[in-house]
Amino acid sequence: MIRSPFAPFFPSLPDSGSYLDSAAKTLTCSAALEAQQSFYREFDCNIERGIYARSAMASDMVEGARTEVAVLLASSPERISFAPSTTHALNSIALGLPWRAGMKVVTTVLEHHSNFLPWLALRRRGVEVAVLRASPDGFLDPDDMRKACDGAFLAAFTHASNVTGSVQDLGALAAAASSGGAFVVVDGAQALSHSEVDISGLCVDAYAFSGHKCFGPTGTGALFISPELREALDPAILGGGSASDSSPEGFEAVKDPPHSALEPGTQNIAGILGLGAAAAFRLGMDHDLRRRHADEITARCLEGLRGIEGLELHGPSGMRSRLPVFSFSVEGLSPHMLAMRLDHEYGLMTRSGNHCAPTLWRTLFGRSRGGVRASFHDYSCMADVDLLIAAMGRIASDARK
Ligand code: PLP
Repeated sequence: MIRSPFAPFFPSLPDSGSYLDSAAKTLTCSAALEAQQSFYREFDCNIERGIYARSAMASDMVEGARTEVAVLLASSPERISFAPSTTHALNSIALGLPWRAGMKVVTTVLEHHSNFLPWLALRRRGVEVAVLRASPDGFLDPDDMRKACDGAFLAAFTHASNVTGSVQDLGALAAAASSGGAFVVVDGAQALSHSEVDISGLCVDAYAFSGHKCFGPTGTGALFISPELREALDPAILGGGSASDSSPEGFEAVKDPPHSALEPGTQNIAGILGLGAAAAFRLGMDHDLRRRHADEITARCLEGLRGIEGLELHGPSGMRSRLPVFSFSVEGLSPHMLAMRLDHEYGLMTRSGNHCAPTLWRTLFGRSRGGVRASFHDYSCMADVDLLIAAMGRIASDARK
């Protein structure tokens, strides 16, 4: 079996079976593991408000991680806040803005619950929430976005779908959404996992992602936030680091550095260092090789799955603007039963159900039970693809009998 050129950097890559659940969590790279261990072995202390040298050094290391994340997004460190996950980052925006009845938010049918429920919940406060439709293969139309955003305060949409793998034209959508003055909030959890993302020069006010989908540890993530959106936010979670002064009469919210207010309390320091190491690792990868590898996997998987009678592929059928993430179903077989067979009989680790996106499954594919998703990444190899295709060929053939 020819392994991926990136395999040696991922110690948890299984020796037998195939890990096809990278859209839920990528494997952790060695650099991230070592950075976390090194913090607990050598620096083990709290940061920011310690004057002693060890604390100052750990604080500097966290700022170093912030810089790596900023470079990954082609942004600058003062616009990056750490967050425990994409979910937390997006909720911190939804909970911190000054909503009033009659204001309008636009989101889309493609969203993961993390970028759907926080906005839907605003209806309880009288906010109008419009939900934009998508094409049958999972793409958003910039013209539709422009029209929907007329009079909107904020638009929130995903850069890439965790179900269909479709990657949106971020520049065109952000320009359309912001043309009437709306803040633009982007869920980057899937897109940043695979692609180079350059948000400099785009009309994006917030871009959130999770460390555990970018080779980093769980419980980590980050939020790019523009100065304008940051200014409009009144953080909902307060604690150590949130105020420059307080008294029984009130408190002075901290303004400088800009990320302080969005990082209340003690942060996941070891995790952040792991995230920084993962970002540095990503930046050092051969990007052309990554792209070629992903294209080869995508082409082979698409061809193989499309050739299986009785298998329905949900999402883009071509190579254009898509990630190596494939959702499918087989008539007459429940998604969970299918995923169980793939695991028990073939050692293929996939994810079944609606992938926290029931609206997408219902509106695009008319399915309430969802399907099975196989998601590949840099460390995956052609043998993983071939095994999936062979297994699905046999299972679909059984289902036809
Ligand atoms: N957005 C998308 C597109 C996702 O795929 C996921 C997780 O699968 C999330 C948001 C939520 O990420 P987390 O659970 O790390 O907050």
